[in-house]
Amino acid sequence: MTETLNIIGGGLAGSEAAWQAARMGVPVIIHEMRPEVATFAHRTGDLAEMVCSNSFRSDDSDQNAVGLLHWEMRRADGLIMAMADRHRLPAGGALAVDRDPFARSVTNALLDHPLIALNTGEITALPDHGLWIIATGPLTSSALGAAIQAETGADRLAFFDAIAPIVYADSIDMNVAWLQSRYDKGETEAEQKAYLNCPMNRDQYEAFIDALLAADKTEFHPGETAGYFDGCLPIEVMAERGRETLRHGPMKPVGLTNAHKPDEKPHAVVQLRRDNALGTLYNIVGFQTKMKYGAQASVFKMIPGLENASFARLGGIHRNTFINSPTLLDERMRLRSKPHIRFAGQVTGVEGYVESAAMGLLAGRMAASEILGRDLPPPPPTTATGALITHITGGADAKTFQPMNVNFGLFPPVEGLKGGRRGRKDRYQAYTGRAKTDWQEWLSHCVLDAA
Ligand SMILES: Cc1cc2nc3c(=O)[nH]c(=O)nc-3n(C[C@H](O)[C@H](O)[C@H](O)COP(=O)(O)OP(=O)(O)OC[C@H]3O[C@@H](n4cnc5c(N)ncnc54)[C@H](O)[C@@H]3O)c2cc1C
Repeated sequence: MTETLNIIGGGLAGSEAAWQAARMGVPVIIHEMRPEVATFAHRTGDLAEMVCSNSFRSDDSDQNAVGLLHWEMRRADGLIMAMADRHRLPAGGALAVDRDPFARSVTNALLDHPLIALNTGEITALPDHGLWIIATGPLTSSALGAAIQAETGADRLAFFDAIAPIVYADSIDMNVAWLQSRYDKGETEAEQKAYLNCPMNRDQYEAFIDALLAADKTEFHPGETAGYFDGCLPIEVMAERGRETLRHGPMKPVGLTNAHKPDEKPHAVVQLRRDNALGTLYNIVGFQTKMKYGAQASVFKMIPGLENASFARLGGIHRNTFINSPTLLDERMRLRSKPHIRFAGQVTGVEGYVESAAMGLLAGRMAASEILGRDLPPPPPTTATGALITHITGGADAKTFQPMNVNFGLFPPVEGLKGGRRGRKDRYQAYTGRAKTDWQEWLSHCVLDAA
């Protein structure tokens, strides 16, 4: 008898994980708490319910990283992509989905599979034997959240994200910005130059504060609480508390000398910190925000040096349960302290429907391979799925770890190509071409059952 795989949470990730494992011939039980136990965002008892927008974002697999993720999941016979394609709505280059029939079709496909069973009810403790995947998402129930926290330590499980915007390094104007840590702190040159600094004079600072105060902001969803106020205020809330507050907080100009204009003392300085080991992404330090995306792009481009910035992701603050994957998970998504438990989906620190489903796909295949006595290595970081798993299990800085969308900044650069905006089209084409070849090669390691 083949061992059963248990999956907690039948959302986007859990549903895909179940499908992939069953396709490999492994029996699966999905444990889903809805409709018995509700969340503030889900409306139905269906599996794979899309809780907010109905978009899977760009479907362009040549020029867009999430489009590439679609392509990889389709090639891997992904259930979520198959049903999204079946219930596609017209949306230009984006993949918009008719959400209710989509969730119904995913649910039916899973329930119709002879190797998949559904147990309704909340799981409140970490299982101590068997093989499990926890895919309970951003709204993991509080009892299970507490159990995870007891295992991982309080500082390794977050209940809110506080995402500062992330900028592609090659879009920052280095004729304006310079590398320097405050007071040149650090033993090595790399540490003394760990931050990228963007200077503002008084007029630029005042205009920036005006723009922050005037910008459109998003509200919390009903049912989300504002517990974020304890640790990390949004910058616009700091600005509301006083026009000088930011100059004494994340934008303080002390301990820094403008390398381009050493005689000019900046009135304020915006600092960016490296966000990944590759050095392709920088986050704007302390700039978590509830500004709407459109407002963020225009306000942040007022920062000298960021006028032409490309954003790998914009900022946000949401109710979001996620673990510190870089310290807690191994490269096969297993909890280091309890390797019979894997994590998948948004709870691992990826962000979005598609990314969550992709992590479910991977966890399902890896868990099933383990049950079948086969070793499945993670896909290479040159693929979209591989870039994400590499980021969350090691590439990201564990100290500042926040949820991440898939983006080309996570991919190892292709050598010999032009940087900046001009070279972007060729560069993205090179990334996606390389990814498609490498994904096909990785898939060939994973033998699917004939079922
Ligand atoms: C309010 C809100 C809005 C969002 N809007 C968007 C958006 O517009 N676009 C986007 O791409 N992403 C959005 N997200 C993120 C979105 O949730 C994820 O992208 C995606 O749903 C995550 O998939 P998942 O499978 O990891 O989690 P989910 O899809 O949430 O699935 C987790 C499942 O686990 C179940 N569960 C939780 N705890 C337990 C337990 N103890 N026992 C049993 N079952 C349990 C839940 O009921 C749920 O069905 C939003 C998230 C929230 C909270």
